[in-house]
Amino acid sequence: MLRVVPSFDRIGDENAFAVLARAAALAAQGRDVVNLGIGQPDFPTPAHIVEAGIKALRDGHHGYTPAVGIPPLREAVARDIHRRHGVEVSPDAVMVVPGGKVTMFMAILMFGAPGAEILYPDPGFPIYRSMIEFTGATPVPVPIREDNGFAFSAEETLALLTERTRLLIVNSPANPTGGVTPKAEVDALVEGLAAHPGVAVLSDEIYGTMTYDGEAHVSLLAYPGIRDRLIYLDGASKTYAMTGWRLGWSVWPKPLHDAARKLAVNSFSCVNAATQWAGIAALDGPQDDVAAMVAAFDRRRRLVVEGLNRLPNVSCVTPKGAFYAFPNVARTGWKAKALATALLDEAGVAVIGGPDFGIHGEGYLRLSYANSAENIARALDRMRQFLSERAPG
Ligand code: PLP
Repeated sequence: MLRVVPSFDRIGDENAFAVLARAAALAAQGRDVVNLGIGQPDFPTPAHIVEAGIKALRDGHHGYTPAVGIPPLREAVARDIHRRHGVEVSPDAVMVVPGGKVTMFMAILMFGAPGAEILYPDPGFPIYRSMIEFTGATPVPVPIREDNGFAFSAEETLALLTERTRLLIVNSPANPTGGVTPKAEVDALVEGLAAHPGVAVLSDEIYGTMTYDGEAHVSLLAYPGIRDRLIYLDGASKTYAMTGWRLGWSVWPKPLHDAARKLAVNSFSCVNAATQWAGIAALDGPQDDVAAMVAAFDRRRRLVVEGLNRLPNVSCVTPKGAFYAFPNVARTGWKAKALATALLDEAGVAVIGGPDFGIHGEGYLRLSYANSAENIARALDRMRQFLSERAPG
């Protein structure tokens, strides 16, 4: 009998994948399923980025690269950070990783151990909690509340810090809620953290280019007071519609450079070389495709929110970022996961139940509007019909 170490009993799956797998299986059986479950842009990677990847292969970039990434990409990331956040970052602090998740994995491995507490947003990206549990650390959920516009509450977060807290994970714009934490709240959070110098901060800014209604994305990199303990997470997956290329990058504070490099050397060695060259084209090339994609998401966002607010017993705050809506369905009388299952099986609409993102997700569904306006309209029609006719199960 094979025996993996016990910590694997604690590692989770991304529950949302089960819904997506079921949606795919139903579609394969010929069922007409509208998929609002998937958390990835429904746009192709812009052509000039694809060409740069192909060119890199043709030019012979087939070997290992430095574990931390090729210098021109690390420089391009530093330029991107300067352009978008107005902050100087040394390319030496930048690390290229195979996707945003890997930065998360590395940071949580560095700080997670039995006895340590790690704070993370709930509802939030499910991998945070899963990885924290894997390390044996205690996961401490920071409630993310609808009445706060699904922003982080500095007060509530700071109140959860103890002398055992090693890492605080924040995410804005947020998955699954679309919440964006406003500057005043980030200011208050950073100010409060001054009293807790032993707490590292992981800022997941993977949706940083996607905000709406003039809402600004506030990067934690812009706060010099916590730069010596901030891990910044970003990547190409969402901004450049490159989820399958596996390209992310992070900025590490000096004391963690060596640990981060060693983790890379001991695991993935380096990101696929051609992908890294494509990343330079993404960051340094024209940003029109990004702007067009965000404009399309904005239009669909309005459709989704208007449509959801017209459904019986459903209400939806207007998300300010990412490409998710997180409607409140508590008044329908359904438990959120049962509703998601019934919507898929009976109405052919794939959405994710809020509890898949944490205990505070009960009473909500997550809809991704990374789908066509036409499909969004079809999904909303089906949901309306379902909720009008079907008694809660
Ligand atoms: N962080 C958040 C909040 C996400 O929603 C996702 C993907 O859905 C990631 C990180 C991971 O991104 P990547 O595909 O680059 O690993």
